[in-house]
Amino acid sequence: MIKYLVIGDPVSHSRSPKMQNAAFEKCGLGSPYGIRHVKPEELPQFVEYARKNFRGVNLTVPHKQMVCDLVDEMTPRAANCKSVNTLLITDGYILGDSTDGVGLEQALRYNFDLPVNGKRFLFAGAGGAARATAIHFACSGAESIVFANRTESKAVEIIRDIEALNTTCRCSFAAPQEREAMAAAIKNCDCIIQATSLGLKDDDPPPFDLELLKENTDLVIFDTIYKNTKLLQRARELNIPCSGGKEMLIQQGAESFRLWTGMEPDLDAMREGFELPPGGVEV
Ligand code: NAP
Repeated sequence: MIKYLVIGDPVSHSRSPKMQNAAFEKCGLGSPYGIRHVKPEELPQFVEYARKNFRGVNLTVPHKQMVCDLVDEMTPRAANCKSVNTLLITDGYILGDSTDGVGLEQALRYNFDLPVNGKRFLFAGAGGAARATAIHFACSGAESIVFANRTESKAVEIIRDIEALNTTCRCSFAAPQEREAMAAAIKNCDCIIQATSLGLKDDDPPPFDLELLKENTDLVIFDTIYKNTKLLQRARELNIPCSGGKEMLIQQGAESFRLWTGMEPDLDAMREGFELPPGGVEV
């Protein structure tokens, strides 16, 4: 019986069903996690259907912002970033949570043993993923965040939201094509988070001029994309510790699993599930 699912538009590429079912199976709970294609205009109707029929939902692009107006309550961390990727449904009452930020935080610990607290970040991108994770970082003691995004206004909006939260995190903007500003931003950060969609297609340009990267033993690079992007290839050439987005997906999913079940998921089983072909039982 499917009681949990991921929705998105598109969604058939999602690795969440295999990953989550691997964790459910390890806990002796069967394979209760499915998949459903939901278009933006169908979201309100789907949420009402989910209220009566499911216990947990993960949401991916493009639903994370719109669903905020459809839930009964948001956790503080979801309210802070105005993004919801997880629904917990209890007796028809819907709690919205955001696990992307903590997922990336835990991925940085797992991949690089890097804490967020006290560190300086450069985020390439200011879309939904950058918003959810950067705001979580600002609330978790990050020292500074520079946003490099094609559209300046989107970065400014995130910076304003962070400022309104009265954290100690210093935020600023750097135009990705401005070499001097980008060189300074790279030099003065501990970690680059690549959170644009550039790199999903093989012929995409990199998010900034990769010649600006220098051999630097103190820098680490995390690309939220699961592929071997040009950024990751260049980082390896320069011996800069780097990682693709797999562990972020595992860790945000693990946090959803904890919320739904109150149990600790088997992360290695989830990592094995991630490697299986994407997709799952359609509901
Ligand atoms: P989104 O809200 O659509 O944002 C897309 C971002 O990419 C924006 O910053 C956008 O810049 C930039 N961008 C897109 N096309 C561009 C181009 N041609 N030139 C320059 N910049 C461009 O998407 P999202 O949800 O934030 O997702 C962003 C990435 O994060 C995706 O690659 C996704 O795979 C990844 N992600 C990974 C995980 C994980 O668990 N590993 C989770 C969530 C997302 P503008 O603002 O200028 O449009």
